[in-house]
Amino acid sequence: MRHRIAVVGAGPGGLAFARVLHRHGHPVAVLERDPAPDARPPGGTLDLHEGMGQLALDKAGLLAGFRALSRPEGQAMRILDTDGTVLRDWRPGPDDRANPEIDRGQLRDLLLGGLDVQWGRSVTQVVPETGGGALVRFADGRQEAYDLVVGADGAWSRTRPALSPVAPHYTGVTSLETSLDDVDTRHPGLAELIGDGCVAVYGANRSLVAQRNSGGHVKVHVQFRAPLDWHAGLDLSDADAVRSSLLALFDGWAAPVLDLLRHGTAFVHRPLYVLPVSHTWTHVPGVTLLGDAAHLMPPLGAGANLALLEGAELAESVAAAPGDLDEAVRAFEERMWARAGRWAEITTAGLERLVSPDPAEALALFDEVQPS
Ligand SMILES: Cc1cc2nc3c(=O)[nH]c(=O)nc-3n(C[C@H](O)[C@H](O)[C@H](O)COP(=O)(O)OP(=O)(O)OC[C@H]3O[C@@H](n4cnc5c(N)ncnc54)[C@H](O)[C@@H]3O)c2cc1C
Repeated sequence: MRHRIAVVGAGPGGLAFARVLHRHGHPVAVLERDPAPDARPPGGTLDLHEGMGQLALDKAGLLAGFRALSRPEGQAMRILDTDGTVLRDWRPGPDDRANPEIDRGQLRDLLLGGLDVQWGRSVTQVVPETGGGALVRFADGRQEAYDLVVGADGAWSRTRPALSPVAPHYTGVTSLETSLDDVDTRHPGLAELIGDGCVAVYGANRSLVAQRNSGGHVKVHVQFRAPLDWHAGLDLSDADAVRSSLLALFDGWAAPVLDLLRHGTAFVHRPLYVLPVSHTWTHVPGVTLLGDAAHLMPPLGAGANLALLEGAELAESVAAAPGDLDEAVRAFEERMWARAGRWAEITTAGLERLVSPDPAEALALFDEVQPS
């Protein structure tokens, strides 16, 4: 008998799971809350590591497609002092394919391919059933039974409560994102400052990173330590008010760096939440988690890579062990917990150093991880 399998969420993790299962000839229901693939802006660029995200795409038969779309030159990174002095200017070698960048929207379209996603299906609850399997409840009142439900529904997962009472907590670091379009024609000076990849500036307890996406689009992220309610009295939908508030916060930084904020359009507020490092749960037959739903961590280049790899690996395990689905899931969970735990430690320590009272910490971290 074929197992009835559902994945909640069509993010990188859920789509990788579905694509690899499909490749092995297994049907899977992909249940996604968004009403359509382009219902929300897809977000910024992602770097996919050779042994993680790229490996997952290889398992899905999509590595050639990734290579055609990705930007190896986007690995370049420049670090400035707050006065604008260039402290580091690292560029990848011509054959460096370790961590090329790809726009999230391009990655999503690549993973979607001809996949049959059920859009507009908002899951409210997953209930494990006695004897195995689980019931999925939807916002429209319907419910469906599956032998395995994979929660790939991100930070605020509705699947997670079936396995764990733990919820994400605030790191103490908040982030705001803005963007610039057609940077090469409209802001050539800033385009030069950013280069092919990204420019980062670290000050005491705050940072600014501007990163090139494809098509001359740039995403600018500022991060700073602040209580969750730092914006009390500030209307976050008022771009001018947010810009003024940020310019005051970054007062004294070099003019071209502040221009990245001055020319930014709307601002998106993203306080950084995480799950505890090494979040695990007692195995429950019929339900599991992967990606941010299982191990939300600071955004330091690991989350999407882990989600992709876990999706691909779980699909392969399920496809290789059709007789004993539960054993395959158990083995996957052990492997995921061990690897994600290590990355959660790395990224948690990384965030402490990147948004630190001593900006020299950020530079030291760069020197430790960047190949010379
Ligand atoms: C600013 C920023 C930059 C980042 N940069 C990088 C990077 O360079 N490299 C990297 O590896 N990682 C990066 N990350 C982390 C990465 O974005 C996440 O770890 C990754 O998206 C997690 O993938 P996922 O599939 O687990 O979840 P998500 O991408 O969150 O996808 C979850 C999906 O589930 C859907 N969903 C949610 N709830 C429901 C529901 N109730 N019912 C049905 N569907 C639901 C959502 O609509 C969504 O489509 C970054 C994160 C941020 C915030």
